[in-house]
Amino acid sequence: MPRTKIIAQLFFLFFFQIATYSQTERIPNKQLEEMLVDADNYLHKLEYDKSLATSEKVLAQALKTGNNVLIAKACNQIGLSLRENSDFNKSIQFYNKALHYADLTSNDILKNRINNNIGDLYISEKTDLDKGILYYKKALFIAKQIGDSIAIAHTQLDLTKAYFKKKDYTGGIHYLNSVNNFIINKGDFESKISSNFLYGTYYNHFNKIDLALASYEKAIEYGKFTKDERFIKNEIILSYKELSNIYKKKGDYKNALLFLKLRNDLSDRYNEQENLRKAKLIGTQIKNDDYKRQIYKIKFEKELQRRSLRKSKIVVGLFFAIFIIFILLLFTLFRNINFKKKTNDELLKVNADLKIAKEKAEEASLLKTQFVSTISHELRTPLYGIIGIANMLLDENKGRDNSHLNSLKFSARYLLSLVNDIFQINKIDDKHVILDRLTFNISEELDIVSNCLQYIANKNENSIFIDVDPAIPENLIGDKLRLSQILMNLVSNALKFTKNGEVNVSVHLKNVVDKLHYLEFQIRDNGVGIAKSDQDKIYDKFVQVGRKEEDYHGTGLGLSIVKRLIGLFNSEIHLASQINKGTTFRFTIAFEVDSIKTEEIINSIEVDMTTNNTIKVLVVEDNKINQIVTKKIIEKNNYKCDVVNDGLLAIKKLETETYDVILMDINMPIISGFETTRRIRKKGITTPIVALTAFVKEEIAEEAFSSGMNDIVSKPFEPIKLFQIINSQVYKTKA
Ligand code: ADP
Repeated sequence: MPRTKIIAQLFFLFFFQIATYSQTERIPNKQLEEMLVDADNYLHKLEYDKSLATSEKVLAQALKTGNNVLIAKACNQIGLSLRENSDFNKSIQFYNKALHYADLTSNDILKNRINNNIGDLYISEKTDLDKGILYYKKALFIAKQIGDSIAIAHTQLDLTKAYFKKKDYTGGIHYLNSVNNFIINKGDFESKISSNFLYGTYYNHFNKIDLALASYEKAIEYGKFTKDERFIKNEIILSYKELSNIYKKKGDYKNALLFLKLRNDLSDRYNEQENLRKAKLIGTQIKNDDYKRQIYKIKFEKELQRRSLRKSKIVVGLFFAIFIIFILLLFTLFRNINFKKKTNDELLKVNADLKIAKEKAEEASLLKTQFVSTISHELRTPLYGIIGIANMLLDENKGRDNSHLNSLKFSARYLLSLVNDIFQINKIDDKHVILDRLTFNISEELDIVSNCLQYIANKNENSIFIDVDPAIPENLIGDKLRLSQILMNLVSNALKFTKNGEVNVSVHLKNVVDKLHYLEFQIRDNGVGIAKSDQDKIYDKFVQVGRKEEDYHGTGLGLSIVKRLIGLFNSEIHLASQINKGTTFRFTIAFEVDSIKTEEIINSIEVDMTTNNTIKVLVVEDNKINQIVTKKIIEKNNYKCDVVNDGLLAIKKLETETYDVILMDINMPIISGFETTRRIRKKGITTPIVALTAFVKEEIAEEAFSSGMNDIVSKPFEPIKLFQIINSQVYKTKA
């Protein structure tokens, strides 16, 4: 249904209500009584439709005001009209309604009249004589109660007629006799007509001809004074007829004919009137039918309207429900948007704060990295000297007992690794560490570890047992320094936390996949053990469990470095420990074995070491100790070596001399190694330049190569590695 139509209907409803309300203006009771008199007059004038319409109007008003007398009177009047319209059933219904409302009042005259009317209807139209008599008797009872003589007289006459109709003449005459005197003295013409006619009937029945004649004649005589056609129509015409019959019986044909003629004249006259009445009645009935049709039509339209109204109500209801839901949705949406906006603003603020915090954290991290980098560089430089000199001493004292020198060299290397590791802990966390590839022998490495830690073992009266699986190849390739770091940490811990006990270090070949040999390391002690609750914590940085100052000195960094280092080897550490029974650490690392390559390296070194083609090396280094160490290593290999203190001197030297390779320190006074290299390259000198630096390779790789350097060797270095690089650079140039 279109929206405009719904709105139109709503307006229609509203105005319909107002219109109906305005129609309900009150008519005073007095005027209603007068209207009922009018209705009765219309009925007498045979204008039934007007009579009905007027009575109905009164009834509608009376019902609204709840005036029972008026309701009863109106219903009674409608009953009368309907009776005249020959609608007897409806007439009875209205009479009963009238009686019901009259019984609610104390108006006995009204009750008497209605009972009479009902009696009349049953006697004359419905031919239920007994029922009619019953109502008459009720009417008579009421009339007697209120002492209304006229009403008593009329009702008794009616009762007589009813009994006579039933052919109960003796029953009827009793009522007639008891009112005769009153009628003779005080009765109106109509009651006198009735009483004489009834006496005539009675006498005629019992063949009292003269008395009957006299009674009929009296009835006719009184008939001349009445205008009530009903009496003329019934009693008078019948009286003429009975008179004619009686005279006929008596053989007085003249009178018989006379009365018959009079009867016929009267009858004709009233028949005409009756026809007119009937015609009017038919007209009224047609009109009534028309009304009924109209009423039906109106009712039908009303029903349609009612249905459409119901529909409209449903639609309006739905519309409102949807509207409310829509409003609720809008409200929720609005709230959500507000909430989102608020959260967004908060998020933006938090984001901005986070960005600032991130920048600060990055700045701090950069500062930390720079700090660690600088410190480790500064530590590495002197350590290079210590290791270098240790190497030199070892070389000079070949064939003697060098265990102390080895321990010194190893400790220096360990310290250097530790410095590197602190630096690398950061690097590992930043995922920037690349493992070295060096050839080593696992038994040698374990012996070094064991030797190095012997003094701790002695202090705690422990014994170290090393067990190496013979299946492990001689030469492995891998980051042996970092492996040593792991072992040093674990073995030193085992020795520290065990007294008068044993520390077993074992390594066996677990399996071989492709060229990778998986070695399982196990470090077992029978010391104090680690409580179950502490076993997860010990790998955290700076965590020490149950530390006693006098027992040992440690930083709490060891295991966290170990865990990270093992992680670099793509493996993980496992722990099994019981308090006072001991601890076992276990991990597996894969190493490459390439015996051919190893041999090649060894061979090439041998060749180079015996060659007569002396290679000329220029070392650019500002640190005096490092100058000595490097020069000694190079000359040890029968290479020629010149040393200059800084970059400018190097450039100057290159103007007069040619070299096969230049070893360049990075951190130097006046100009850095990078800048020196750039200037050398600018001069068109293509001699290979290898950075020899305390920096970690990855740290400087980018700048080194972009400045024109060819390779990098991190200090401290294995001499073999240095010669490997020198040889490969010289070989490349010559090729
Ligand atoms: P540190 O040794 O400097 O204290 P670590 O990180 O190496 O630091 O070890 C952390 C803690 O783990 C030690 O303080 C010790 O309590 C415990 N721990 C490590 N190894 C052993 C072991 N073999 N036996 C008993 N406790 C150990």
